Amino acid sequence: MKINAKQLEMVNRQVQRILESGNYYSEVYKKAGITGVHSEEDFLKIPFTDKADLRNAYPLGIQAVPEEQVVRIHSSSGTTGKPVIIPYTAKDVDDWATMFARCYEIAGVTNRDRIHITPGYGLWTAGIGFQAGCEKIGAMAIPMGPGNTEKQLQMMIDLGSTVLCATSSYALLLAEEINKRGIRDQIKLKKGIIGSERWSDAKRNYIARELGIELYDIYGLTEIYGPGIGINCPGETGMHIFDDYLYTEIIDPVTGEVLPDGEEGEIVITTLVKEGAPLIRFRTHDLSKILPGECHCGRTYPRLATIRGRSDDMFKVHGVNMFPSQIEEILGMVDGVSSEYKIDIAHDDLKNRDIMMITAEADGRVDFMKTAEQLKMLCKSRLNVTPNVVIVSLNTLPRSEKKTQRVFDHRGD
Ligand code: ZN
Repeated sequence: MKINAKQLEMVNRQVQRILESGNYYSEVYKKAGITGVHSEEDFLKIPFTDKADLRNAYPLGIQAVPEEQVVRIHSSSGTTGKPVIIPYTAKDVDDWATMFARCYEIAGVTNRDRIHITPGYGLWTAGIGFQAGCEKIGAMAIPMGPGNTEKQLQMMIDLGSTVLCATSSYALLLAEEINKRGIRDQIKLKKGIIGSERWSDAKRNYIARELGIELYDIYGLTEIYGPGIGINCPGETGMHIFDDYLYTEIIDPVTGEVLPDGEEGEIVITTLVKEGAPLIRFRTHDLSKILPGECHCGRTYPRLATIRGRSDDMFKVHGVNMFPSQIEEILGMVDGVSSEYKIDIAHDDLKNRDIMMITAEADGRVDFMKTAEQLKMLCKSRLNVTPNVVIVSLNTLPRSEKKTQRVFDHRGD
């Protein structure tokens, strides 16, 4: 999906505004000798930018408009280091709501719907984004925010909520609770709009089945407006991204090379009309691919495949890029195997090749040797890499409340 003439013109306008603003990026671009964008070649010369830049510019260094035009800030809570602050103008807030309203429309939500919003309100962009889009289409917002399951279910029943907006984990929790209490027949939900993150098919199927709803993945990140910059249309055919507001590239996360449609890599987004904090070629670290061809729905917005994971988690064996999610998928295909695992990668200097070892857990019902062989063959056929596989008993691998480290790279130890 090459950048078109209209988008180039929009990027040029963004760059001119940045240069005039004297903000953080104006310095970066002046140093890089960037004066304007008139061709694809010019565009590709603009350096990528990253969350680290936004942290360097903390708190308001990326602001590209005068103080009096800023109506709101949002902040993304980094797990490490300083948070990131994004200033919005009135137009930014309105543009975001317009995109979000489109998301609801694509999901078939109308002004007759009652939208139960469980993402949090406050500094981060979640709840308020769902709310603004809801008001824009004229539906009824039920601004719950997260937590207090008791009250969530009561309101859901009393008000007859028809659309649930939630993270996949919270949707799962509510589905389990509804199931446990046997109140499914009192619930009127028809659709679930779930903040896009990588979630397993098992979880998706459970939520869809228990709540009897259609599920939609909504995409977004605080740095680029917030949630609501893309959503899949009915039929899980990838998420439409609004190319009149955003230009999307997919790059090789290691080399930075722009990849053709259909190839998986890291999503890089350029805002085309953002005023408060324009970002050009922002690396999201989310992994996906642009789906080639037209969507059956007839909309011409480009489509991103469901998010596959984070590029920070990627590892390379025999020159093949791999992600923990691919291993998880394979583990999920074999009977008796748990979702806990560990990957060790080393280099055999004598044979000059990488060695990959997967340690996985299985329950006592299954033959460990046969299970290991099965996993090995699946890796070979699906990933083109043949690992050594060791099966251990359930609960042997360490559990962690925080994000568990899965990949241990011993090359260069
Ligand atoms: Zn479509």
